[in-house]
Amino acid sequence: MQQHKIIIAIDGFSSCGKSTMARELAKKLGYSYIDSGAMYRAITLYFLRNQVDYSDPVKVMEALANINLTFEFNEEEQRSNIYLNDEDVESYIRDMIVSEKVSEVAAIKQVRAFAVGQQKQMGKKKAIVMDGRDIGTAVFPHAELKIFMTADPEVRVMRRFKELYATNPHISMDEVRHNLELRDYIDSNREESPLRRAEDARILDNTALTREEQLKLVVDWVKNLSPKMEPSI
Ligand code: C5P
Repeated sequence: MQQHKIIIAIDGFSSCGKSTMARELAKKLGYSYIDSGAMYRAITLYFLRNQVDYSDPVKVMEALANINLTFEFNEEEQRSNIYLNDEDVESYIRDMIVSEKVSEVAAIKQVRAFAVGQQKQMGKKKAIVMDGRDIGTAVFPHAELKIFMTADPEVRVMRRFKELYATNPHISMDEVRHNLELRDYIDSNREESPLRRAEDARILDNTALTREEQLKLVVDWVKNLSPKMEPSI
């Protein structure tokens, strides 16, 4: 059977397990996986390290001109890591200091144009799974499969807390809850492509699903797309 490559766009609130699902799905399909949030996090890291006054659009444009983002596959970890100007910054971008500022940075028009331009380019060859907040609405509005993920807020707080606690035992649940609520609020209310479910996105609530159940559900969705679009699994 001829193999038709498709684009899979995954959006949703913070800490819904989007990247875990997207990564597993990409692996299953033999597709590339792009974590678009990592791009906004790496840009934020650059702004923080270089004390860029991001309230000034001129300073933002100057800073963006000095940022080069790439993804490279790490054999040992079996995942793609993000590189900021040739430095693997994967282990810094999830720090609370970045999480606290990333939604402000991601709301800046010039930052979005910079990241979205590169994301669209990555989709040219199809065979890609990308997750984020505006993938089905702004980056790939014609994606063959769009998924909007959600989960119970307290379940999300607990998941993110466990993840962060592993490297930062001083973190509190309240701190994590506050950060998730704040990011969801800013992401949903910003002017530039706010977080929205695309009208044609399927909703995936994974509150009560195991990783295996959720993956099976989504793989079935892929299989049941029109045969013309069906990738070989
Ligand atoms: O996905 P993750 O939680 O790592 O994303 C970090 C932040 O980056 C989000 O809270 C949001 O502010 C921003 N983001 C975005 N658009 C995307 C992906 C992430 O605005 N497509």
